[in-house]
Amino acid sequence: VTGITGQDGWYLAHHLLERGYEVIGLVRPETYRELHRCRYGIESDYVEGVSYRPFDLHCDSSWEALLDEAKPDEFYHLAGISFVPDSWNMPVETIQTNIAITTRILEAIRQFSAETRIFYACSSEVFGRPETGPQHELTPIRPVSPYGVTKAASHSMIDLYRRQYGLFACSGILFNHESPRRPPSFVTRKISMAAAAIATGKQDSLMLGNIDSRRDWGYAGDFVDGMWRVLQATEAKDYVIGTGNHTTVRDLLNCAFDRVGLDWSKYLSIDPRFARANDIQAPLADASLARKELGWSARTSIQELMQMMVDHDLKLCEQSETSIRAA
Ligand code: NDP
Repeated sequence: VTGITGQDGWYLAHHLLERGYEVIGLVRPETYRELHRCRYGIESDYVEGVSYRPFDLHCDSSWEALLDEAKPDEFYHLAGISFVPDSWNMPVETIQTNIAITTRILEAIRQFSAETRIFYACSSEVFGRPETGPQHELTPIRPVSPYGVTKAASHSMIDLYRRQYGLFACSGILFNHESPRRPPSFVTRKISMAAAAIATGKQDSLMLGNIDSRRDWGYAGDFVDGMWRVLQATEAKDYVIGTGNHTTVRDLLNCAFDRVGLDWSKYLSIDPRFARANDIQAPLADASLARKELGWSARTSIQELMQMMVDHDLKLCEQSETSIRAA
């Protein structure tokens, strides 16, 4: 698993360990030294039972030894720059990371472990501003951000290696998915943290952009099950993975603030600068192929997801209170 220290990597590691897999996690050397830190939540990146390896994904010469030794049955490529605004701030680095690493992995697997099945974490951002909806596997690809371009290019490389070399390589075209491990730069977590902090007297207001903005938001725990199912299929294919339901930012506010018994409108101020420039319009997943062929569908409602996140963030507030008192 690459990207094992990210949100999805953590859930996927648990999912695979629960199914009896031996899991190897490839981690940037600088992150490897900090595996036990709690970055965004009450639990650290470290998952008991995973064999973590410091590994430079950009370094071609390391792959042969790794794949020769491990000969993995399955390879999940999740690593990448994943925040769209970051890709505008550093487009060259986003290209180098998101496209070059995918290509390196495909090449290494082709050369040294061609039986390995590969999952690639593609994104609904490849659809850009779709003119038709909901979006499915054949919806035209027209990204509108550097991030979307990198995901589209990697998606094409996956397709190319599948057709040219017969690799079992698949993209999951993932719609937004969230959890208590989401960084606070994402609006779902910004809201859950604000609800918890306001309820415990640590914060007195919340600033957002457009609260009528809509997305297809799901729970990361459900999505990693989708990733796993993609690689259990009899045939290598790409699949859209998403809930098929729209949620507005206003709905997120309702769910989060209801959980703590507060009225969000008393705390919210609107700053149009938080509305994303060149933002995409209301993507919505048509995951009928995944439902039909993989038996996958999202199980967790948006209410359950936001409650889970707020409950986690209330604990985080308690924890910081305790550590301040102890200090
Ligand atoms: P995160 O941002 O939480 O995790 C990203 C992971 O990639 C981290 O482990 C990070 O490592 C690693 N990474 C970033 N840059 C590099 C690099 N240069 N070299 C090696 N590793 C690197 O993302 P998510 O878990 O949310 O998403 C997983 C994948 O799914 C991503 O590729 C994302 O684009 C894609 N995706 C996610 C969606 C979502 O809603 N979550 C939707 C659609 C696609 P480190 O800890 O060292 O920083």
